Amino acid sequence: MTKAPQDPLTDLKAHLAVISDLAQAQAVLSWDENVYLPEGAAPARGQQLATLSRVIHERATDPKIGGWLDALGEPSSADEAALARVARREYRLSTKLPGDFVEDFTRIRSAAQAAWVGARAASDFSQFAPHLEKIVALNLRQADYLGYDTHPYDALHDLYEMGSTTEKVRAVFADLRDATVPLVRDIAEGRDVSDAPLRQVFSEPEQEAFAVKMVEAFGYSFRHGRLDRTVHPFATSFSKYDVRITTRYDPNFLSPALFGTLHEAGHAMYEQGISSSFDRSPLGAAVSLGIHESQSRMWENLVGRSYGFWRWAYPQVQETFPAQLGNVPLDDFYAAINKVAPSFIRVEADEVTYNLHVMVRFELELALLEGSLKISELPEAWNAKYGEYLGITPPNDAEGCLQDIHWSLGMMGYFPTYTLGNIMSVQLFEAAASAVPTLGADIEGGRFDGLLGWLRENVHQHGSRFEPAELLRRATGSDLDAGPYVAYLNRKFRALYGIER
Ligand code: ZN
Repeated sequence: MTKAPQDPLTDLKAHLAVISDLAQAQAVLSWDENVYLPEGAAPARGQQLATLSRVIHERATDPKIGGWLDALGEPSSADEAALARVARREYRLSTKLPGDFVEDFTRIRSAAQAAWVGARAASDFSQFAPHLEKIVALNLRQADYLGYDTHPYDALHDLYEMGSTTEKVRAVFADLRDATVPLVRDIAEGRDVSDAPLRQVFSEPEQEAFAVKMVEAFGYSFRHGRLDRTVHPFATSFSKYDVRITTRYDPNFLSPALFGTLHEAGHAMYEQGISSSFDRSPLGAAVSLGIHESQSRMWENLVGRSYGFWRWAYPQVQETFPAQLGNVPLDDFYAAINKVAPSFIRVEADEVTYNLHVMVRFELELALLEGSLKISELPEAWNAKYGEYLGITPPNDAEGCLQDIHWSLGMMGYFPTYTLGNIMSVQLFEAAASAVPTLGADIEGGRFDGLLGWLRENVHQHGSRFEPAELLRRATGSDLDAGPYVAYLNRKFRALYGIER
């Protein structure tokens, strides 16, 4: 008996649906590995994850996909055209890298990661340097396999932010740098702001209860998600019906768990809002890291660090922590959560200085790939840039060029997505504010459905239907533009620090 012939679109969709199921099952295993895995189970779990990776890779590079894509007729809808476009891109990306290269990369990455952990603990860049040398060489080879017109960085960066290029990043970063460096300098001359109210003893169960109340108010669905504890907070999706977040608690500092949870909930609400018509399809995935970060940063900063939000939320946090915050005026609390101070560590940076950390990495990655910076010179170049942009010099490599995990994982071209997300968060928030005139009053009253509804409609539901630049243009009417973000930073922080323009 022979199988009835089907049309190529149906076959393609069925094949991709299985890949989606496998990838989501793999994500469950990874989540469990990060949250609950007993120590002795690590090797077995590693084996299971490696097997799933191999099975997924085999299926994703199956030549049948190429055959179906070639045989597709005229798309009968915009969604069908989008599916073909996304499937073509993913097939091209997975088939361009030769098997032996992928194996080399995996092996070198494992060694690099172990070396990075040791090097960071010892604060000794020389232990990591030979591995980074290989990582840079592999990234250059990868760029060659993937292909690019102008700069190898284009091919790498495009893996994380489809359609973005080195030139575009360079231009938008230049605008942002020119505006941020003087702002940081002015803030240093402004009034003193203390974050002491946040640096008291806060019990973990109460921190958790308060953070849960806030993200539930935002619209994060615990019916389709959950919150757990981890060392490194993240959000992960096993379909829009199960999007989980994690956080970490510092019993002596209120900020990390609170703003970390708001941030991860922003990521998660994006995934929870993708249209169910894209279930088990490549269109059912978030479209890029930059768009993802625009969502997390919006809820963390534009909502979560705004004065209006705390008009509503402050009495509640005071009620949760009466001994610590009962006598702290709202204005002092608002200043504390928005304190600006140049610091060495990117993930702890405030809204103003954060992007300078990203720019340092972007410029150094370009120099490493271009060969104008030798690996051995990296710590010195890193420290010089921190001096130039932030006015501070890291005391050691652990707090300098060894702080981030990305390079040890083989990832170059990733860092700019953080800043692209910040920039887009303001463009999108302002578009939402003009579409929903009550937005400001809503936030002051603890009502977030207007904002979430606008995001669902204009960003979330689309999944990967549009490329990031088109999604942004449809939602805001503009291309990527640092202008609104720069204006926002100036407005907010010049007022807070009492400095003239
Ligand atoms: Zn994030």
